Amino acid sequence: MRLIDTHAHLDFEQYDKDRDEVLNRAREIGVEKIFNIGADLESSRRTVELAKKYNNIYAVVGIHPHDADTVNKESLAEIKKLALNNKVKALGETGLDFYYDNSPREKQKEAFKKQLDLAKELDLPVVIHSRSAGEETLNAIDQVADFSANLIFHCYAYGPELIKKIIERDYYAAFGGLITFNSAGEIRKALEKMPLNRILLETDSPYLTPSPNRGKRNEPSYLQYILKKAAEIKKVAPEELAEITSKNAERIYKL
Ligand SMILES: [Zn+2]
Ligand SMILES: [Zn+2]
Repeated sequence: MRLIDTHAHLDFEQYDKDRDEVLNRAREIGVEKIFNIGADLESSRRTVELAKKYNNIYAVVGIHPHDADTVNKESLAEIKKLALNNKVKALGETGLDFYYDNSPREKQKEAFKKQLDLAKELDLPVVIHSRSAGEETLNAIDQVADFSANLIFHCYAYGPELIKKIIERDYYAAFGGLITFNSAGEIRKALEKMPLNRILLETDSPYLTPSPNRGKRNEPSYLQYILKKAAEIKKVAPEELAEITSKNAERIYKL
């Protein structure tokens, strides 16, 4: 069985002491590739370094909506430069987070639009972070350009209504630890509706640790619990879902 963790932050200091062991444990359960995601300029730089160091790590560079006010001409030029590295497979994570509202909403929209424009210019897929802003996220994308089949709604955290619109637009959705939480019935309903060829799996390590390890630091080897739950919801064998979602990841990230 092979798996791909489509979203992790292994450049974070939480892994400084045991990064190699974390990667070994992932390999042992079949995680073949990991996409490390930049959250700001500094972590985007670290992400590219990590991808250069480890064969099975790929990079995504961009600036998170929490840090929208650091998006400017200079930082975008730097992101663009980083994106030229051949291990960089997408732009992100970018989007809108109206749950935490760590940056003013207007600033988030502006930063999101600029990164969508850059992705189009570079012809790269986009990893979208969207929380409590589903409609606004889709509107922002619709206004910029047609990214059909080149967008990932990472850490899908909405119900079955929004997923209909994502399916209509032919985007991908990545499901993570949330689907194992008791309170996440609506997200599970959305996954039930999502066609198999548009589903990705992710851990979002170190966040959103799936059950039964809730409370611990998350890591890519815990993708096995997410796979198990997702397979149950989709009523397919875990091995089959592992293969389908790996192929989906390779398609969207153009490996
Ligand atoms: Zn995110
Ligand atoms: Zn993330």
